[in-house]
Amino acid sequence: MKKYRIVFSKEVTETEKKIIQDYWLFENDAFVNTNKELEAKYNLNPAKITKLIKDKSYCVVVEKCKECQSEFDRKVETKGSFIIKFCRSNYSQKICKKCNLEYKREREKEIQEKERKEAIKLEERRLLAVANETEKLNQIIKDKIWLKLEEEIYDVFHQIINCKTFSEIERNIFKNQISRNEIWNPIYSLEKLGLLKIERDRSNRVINIVCPEKLLKVILSTKNKEFSISLTSTKGNNTNEPEYSNSFVLESEVILKTGIIYTSEIWKLSDGSLNLKIFPKFQ
Ligand SMILES: [Zn+2]
Repeated sequence: MKKYRIVFSKEVTETEKKIIQDYWLFENDAFVNTNKELEAKYNLNPAKITKLIKDKSYCVVVEKCKECQSEFDRKVETKGSFIIKFCRSNYSQKICKKCNLEYKREREKEIQEKERKEAIKLEERRLLAVANETEKLNQIIKDKIWLKLEEEIYDVFHQIINCKTFSEIERNIFKNQISRNEIWNPIYSLEKLGLLKIERDRSNRVINIVCPEKLLKVILSTKNKEFSISLTSTKGNNTNEPEYSNSFVLESEVILKTGIIYTSEIWKLSDGSLNLKIFPKFQ
């Protein structure tokens, strides 16, 4: 059972003490005397009672700490706050200062631990996503899937990787009409294949379309390589022999793709040899 205690000021008279005690008298979860009853009983006006209570007393609700069982005081100055503190309290108000500190510390520790676990989980998920993405990208590079695209899709891909900014993509590929489905459909296919990434802002508006950096490097390192061979004169007049010939070993694979327009050129050099070049017309 909860208790309360009245604290009187030193200058209080015996009559005043009696009035104050009657004012704070609390039984069965209710104040015994209403202010009206006190006014009548002691022949006092409401202002005087209020002043007397305020100047010469306050009340203390005595709580027993739910944790350590020690008693502690909770000061109240009005009947309203008395009711709140005496009858309705949340857990942190039912425990002493010392236990409250401990309680808060524990709660903080719990929150920190929860946040720490959440951060670990997020990091694990991020690393897994990165690993998956890296694995997918490595497979794309290994399979050279951009060389196996349908021609229309390849063309869009080719044009996009040659654009340096999104406004260039909007201008050169979409011709400033960003809603063109005939452009978007190949882009969505390319995104599904992992060849392009569509970057969006918080309102889901497309802000860029990019090729993953690692993939782009591989494509650029193999893409526009000019294929060139030098041919020297055989100096023979024999019709069974070619006029110019050469033997060579390729340092890297040369892929000539169907559907791409190539230019072939033969240049005559000052030493009389010929240089044969083959390169994509649109780079
Ligand atoms: Zn305690």
